[in-house]
Amino acid sequence: MSTQASTHKRRILIVGGGTAGWLTAAYLARHLALSERSHLEVTVLESPDIGPIGVGEGTFPTIRATLQFLGIDERRFIRETAATFKQGIRFVDWARRGESFLHPFEAPFYTEGTSLVPYWLLQDEAARVPFAQAVTLQARVAAAQRAPKRGAEAAYAGPLNYAYHFDALKLARLLAGRARELGVQHVQATLSAVSRDERGAIAHVDTLQRGRFEADLYVDCTGFRAELIGDAPGAAFHSVRDVLFADRALACKLPVDADATLESCTIATAHEAGWTWEIGLNGARGVGCVYSSDHMTDERAAQVLRDYVGPGHADIATRRIPFAAGWRQKQWVRNCVAVGLSAGFLEPLEATGLVLIEAAVGMIAEMFPHGGPIEAPARRFNELMNARFENIVNFLKLHYCVSRRDEPFWRDNAQPGSLPERLAEFLEQWKYRPPGRYDFLLDTETFAFFNYQYILYGMGYRTDMRGARADFTQVEEAERLFAKIRRFGDRALAELPDHGALIRQINAPAGRTLAGVA
Ligand SMILES: Cc1cc2nc3c(=O)[nH]c(=O)nc-3n(C[C@H](O)[C@H](O)[C@H](O)COP(=O)(O)OP(=O)(O)OC[C@H]3O[C@@H](n4cnc5c(N)ncnc54)[C@H](O)[C@@H]3O)c2cc1C
Repeated sequence: MSTQASTHKRRILIVGGGTAGWLTAAYLARHLALSERSHLEVTVLESPDIGPIGVGEGTFPTIRATLQFLGIDERRFIRETAATFKQGIRFVDWARRGESFLHPFEAPFYTEGTSLVPYWLLQDEAARVPFAQAVTLQARVAAAQRAPKRGAEAAYAGPLNYAYHFDALKLARLLAGRARELGVQHVQATLSAVSRDERGAIAHVDTLQRGRFEADLYVDCTGFRAELIGDAPGAAFHSVRDVLFADRALACKLPVDADATLESCTIATAHEAGWTWEIGLNGARGVGCVYSSDHMTDERAAQVLRDYVGPGHADIATRRIPFAAGWRQKQWVRNCVAVGLSAGFLEPLEATGLVLIEAAVGMIAEMFPHGGPIEAPARRFNELMNARFENIVNFLKLHYCVSRRDEPFWRDNAQPGSLPERLAEFLEQWKYRPPGRYDFLLDTETFAFFNYQYILYGMGYRTDMRGARADFTQVEEAERLFAKIRRFGDRALAELPDHGALIRQINAPAGRTLAGVA
């Protein structure tokens, strides 16, 4: 085991120049103050012949703090990546055909110990407003295609929680530029061989164009190819295909009219054997059909996609992307750590790819052993990443198993045998109480109890609170708060700009402002 002194030069070699590679590079460079440390070296090795996957257009609000930490100006980011604002996901036809609901980023309104959720559950089912609309004003703001902030608001801040949609390739380019500014070196070469020592640590890697590279830490960001972690001892792939059935996507990008309405949420529309995503970018629409090949043929998926995009786009070019739901139970092995698709991937639902990259990179940066053995954090890193993947599986499965659709894909998803034990146990409890904060330990969770509430109650799941009615005595106070949310919603609709108008304003040549978006 190497025990270099802290003055020893530490070299980090990141193999792969997709979102994972460049985000890892920029984040480590910033966190480790690379430009001020001559004993540190970070290099990105990127194949000139193998491109990044180029999908991954939806994000989670954590991306704001990440971009801000990297020192990237928000408006520049929006302009250079064709970005738009995202306030959540609208689920169409999931519970059953013809029904829809929003999963917003804002937590339900909560004040002075009064949770509104039990009071909503106790209301008359036939008369109450949909859950998200009752507990947060964001549902009405997103439904009206308003932006989550005004144009003059501070960067990365606004009255409502938000993330973005963006062009994945453009994001990788922007991150690459920032990483280089922060002192990261860039080598264009294709890795051709990995040599390991007798303990399984990487001794060096060879490339086709630029010879041999040696490093202290190797970060595998080579996407599904998993060129380094793939053969690492103990890094076998853990499949969860028996829980999450989707294993293919058909993706395309369509042009849009400059003045078309711009949604500020992702639209996820269920179909007979999966779902279709629709993401509004600046100047384009990203659309993709996600499906289970056990339940749908590729031809049928292509037809579902064609039906979705409409007759004007009959000859549109599509890309088929197979994937396997699962992850490597050891993602850090000796001196090699995997980040991004090489570490694992579940499916595009709820856009968790980038969040997992952020979580991994944040941990590598915090736990980085400047002077000690490079593999010291491996065990803890692997425990935490495993927990995170497992928790996301539970949350994604929830979307499928509480649906009341009756096609074979949906019926199979509702089979008790396909549910992880913990989710099944929670669903039993949630028949009598809503998801609560003690159900989840936030450090290893991506989704909190209120995310579960939005999905459960958006889908019409029944939590029977009648037995506990006597415990909820603040009915008047709750009614007052529900009314306050409605009033705040009215005000937000009057004050927040149209989403499309704000995006056009941000992209307008310097000095030009548009009326109503300041
Ligand atoms: C259908 C689909 C939809 C998705 N949607 C979302 C979403 O909405 N939101 C989200 O957050 N995530 C999403 N993801 C996940 C997201 O795409 C990825 O997390 C993200 O793009 C990071 O990819 P990556 O950098 O790990 O891999 P890639 O983009 O595949 O990059 C791999 C890199 O490795 C390099 N490379 C490969 N082999 C070699 C070699 N031998 N030598 C040198 N370099 C090499 C390539 O040149 C490339 O630069 C989606 C994924 C899929 C499959």
